[in-house]
Amino acid sequence: AKNNGKNRCMMFDEQMTSAFHERFKIEKILREALEYQRFRLLYQPVIDAQTGAIAYFEALIRIQDSSLSPAVFIQVAEESGLIIPIGRWVIQEAICQQRKWIDANYPVKGIAINISGNQFYDENLVAYIANSLDEQKVDPALIEIEITESVLIDNKEKAINIMKKLKEMRIRIALDDFGTGFSSLNYLTFMPVDKIKLDKSLKDKFIRMESIQVMEGIVSVAHGLGLMVVAEGVEEEVEANRLKRVKCDYLQGYLYSRPLRSNDVERLLKIQTNL
Ligand code: C2E
Ligand code: CA
Ligand code: CA
Ligand code: CA
Repeated sequence: AKNNGKNRCMMFDEQMTSAFHERFKIEKILREALEYQRFRLLYQPVIDAQTGAIAYFEALIRIQDSSLSPAVFIQVAEESGLIIPIGRWVIQEAICQQRKWIDANYPVKGIAINISGNQFYDENLVAYIANSLDEQKVDPALIEIEITESVLIDNKEKAINIMKKLKEMRIRIALDDFGTGFSSLNYLTFMPVDKIKLDKSLKDKFIRMESIQVMEGIVSVAHGLGLMVVAEGVEEEVEANRLKRVKCDYLQGYLYSRPLRSNDVERLLKIQTNL
C-alpha cells in the first residue's frame, strides 16, 4: 500500500512537471513568434442573417506554420503576461489591414477583435486602440471588441468604465461565448454591450425542435434590451434556417466560411464588388 501511495505521488509529480514543461514550451514559442513576427490573423466572415451578405469579419490569431490552437496559447499568454504585446500586435495588425482594404477600395467591412481578460484590464488598452486608429486614420465605428462575460464579472465597475470609454469612441462591444458561464440575462441590463454572441454549445443544445423556444426566448430578451444577436459555430443549413426563424441577426460558422487569410478575404470582397 505504501508503495502504491508513493507511485501515485510520482505520477502526480510527473504530470505537474510535464504540464509545466508544456507551458514553458508554449511560452517560448510565443516569445519567438513575437520576435520573428510569426503571428498571423485570419478573418472569418459574419453573415447578415437577413441578406446573406458579409456584415463584418472576426479576426482570429494563428502562429505561422503551427497547429497550436489559440484556445491553448492565449491561455498561456494570459498567465505569462505575454498577452499584452500579443494583444497589441492583434490590434495593430487588424487596424492596418483595415487601412489596406480601404486604400484598395474594397467594400469596407468592420473587424471584430477578441480581447481577453488581462488585456482588457490593461490600463493602456483604450489609449493604444485610440492611437492605432488615429495613426491609420481608420474610423472607430469599423471596430468591434469581443470580450467574454467571465472577464466582466471579475471587476464589474472597472469593466463598465472601460466599456464606456470604448463606446464614447464609437467602438462596438460584443459579449462573446454567451451561455457558457454564469450567463444571466440580468447582466445585460447594466453592461453597455451592443451585441451578444451565442456560444456554439448553447446553440448545439437548444437548436433541436423541441427546445428551440429557449433560443427564441434569449434572442427576444436581447432584442428587448436593444442588443443584436450573433449565432456562432453554424455548420448546417438546417441550423441556419432555425436560427433565422428565431430572429438571430448574424450567423457565423463553417457553413459560410472558415477563417480566411487576408488575400482570400480580398478575393471574396472583389467578387462582392463586381456583383
Ligand atoms: P472564439 O472567440 O469563441 O472564436 C470562435 C472559435 O470557433 C474560433 O476558433 C473559430 O475558428 C471557431 N469556429 C468558427 N466557426 C466554427 C464552426 O462552424 N464550427 C466550429 N466547431 N468552430 C468554429 P479559434 O480561431 O481556434 O479560436 C479559439 C479561441 O481563441 C477564440 O474563441 C478566442 O477565445 C481565442 N482567440 C482567437 N484569436 C484571438 C485573438 O486574437 N485574441 C484573443 N485574446 N483571443 C483569441
Ligand atoms: Ca470571438
Ligand atoms: Ca465565441
Ligand atoms: Ca470561445
